Amino acid sequence: MHYDTIIIGGSFAGLAAALYLARARKSVCILDNGRPRNRFATHSHGFFAHDGSVPGELLSTMRKQVAAYPSVTFLEDAAVDASLDGEILSVRLQSGAVITAPRTLLAFGISDTLPDLPGVAERWGRSVLHCPYCHGYEFSDQQLGVLNLMEMSHHQAALISEWGPTTFYLNGGTLEPEAAEALERRGVTIEPAPVVSLHGEGHSLSGIELADGRSRALNALFIAPRNHFNSPIAEQLGCEVEATPLGSTITVDALQMTSIRHVYAAGDITRQGHSITFACADGVMAGTAIHRSLAFDA
Ligand SMILES: Cc1cc2nc3c(=O)[nH]c(=O)nc-3n(C[C@H](O)[C@H](O)[C@H](O)COP(=O)(O)OP(=O)(O)OC[C@H]3O[C@@H](n4cnc5c(N)ncnc54)[C@H](O)[C@@H]3O)c2cc1C
Repeated sequence: MHYDTIIIGGSFAGLAAALYLARARKSVCILDNGRPRNRFATHSHGFFAHDGSVPGELLSTMRKQVAAYPSVTFLEDAAVDASLDGEILSVRLQSGAVITAPRTLLAFGISDTLPDLPGVAERWGRSVLHCPYCHGYEFSDQQLGVLNLMEMSHHQAALISEWGPTTFYLNGGTLEPEAAEALERRGVTIEPAPVVSLHGEGHSLSGIELADGRSRALNALFIAPRNHFNSPIAEQLGCEVEATPLGSTITVDALQMTSIRHVYAAGDITRQGHSITFACADGVMAGTAIHRSLAFDA
């Protein structure tokens, strides 16, 4: 099948672009394999008019609204690889089908690589968190922790102390004296011992166990996990990619176009600050830019 635009990833960024393209009466094929990044969280915060929503319900409403436009095709299928023949992009799907379009939006998101610490994976998005703006308020004034995963983790500990009493778990690592002093000035406790595991009822957290046999009370642990693209398609197409301390981002211009003409990208894969609001804004910019590029053959 041939469309005006193929969108790889039908979550916040992809659906926001699709809505604008559908309203501009362009044919759009959205591919999605149902794994949005925030699927581990029970509630989503900070997206205006939807603060506290259930992430799955939010996406299902967005999907219904987009699917109501007759020029939209939604395929529950994964893009496996893609190639360009002149200006036409071909995408091969997991089902074996091949679809084509003159414009493409990459919106396939990222995944987080969680530290290999017992008790982290099952609490991810509930009481093990990365973004205080998304989930910090719900743990206000409770016992908060930050796990030392990388050189910049002490900055995260300084920030988290805005929400409540914070301990920086060095986990056997080291800390420069100036960084330690800055944390102490903010009232952050530094715990040098290696961390062994987390414990608590179900998805909640009540304590953290240390290698020297001690344990400390803890209600939420903040981490800054490394992340990776959900698909190799940007690299396959030769899109320019930039390394960051946590992962990589696809380089885009002000209209969300990548270094490859007519291939656009939006959402978490293009930026370091991640939120639903940013992903939707990127998608809207990409959707309008793609429409104008189709309309004026630019
Ligand atoms: C635990 C957690 C909680 C969060 N809570 C909040 C919050 O409260 N508020 C907030 O604003 N932000 C929150 N975020 C951030 C938010 O989830 C992301 O910023 C947002 O999901 C980014 O949207 P996106 O469209 O770029 O990517 P995603 O939402 O990750 O969507 C990418 C989509 O692409 C699909 N896909 C991937 N590969 C392929 C492929 N090859 N073919 C087809 N489809 C593919 C995936 O299935 C997925 O549906 C949270 C993140 C995490 C990890």
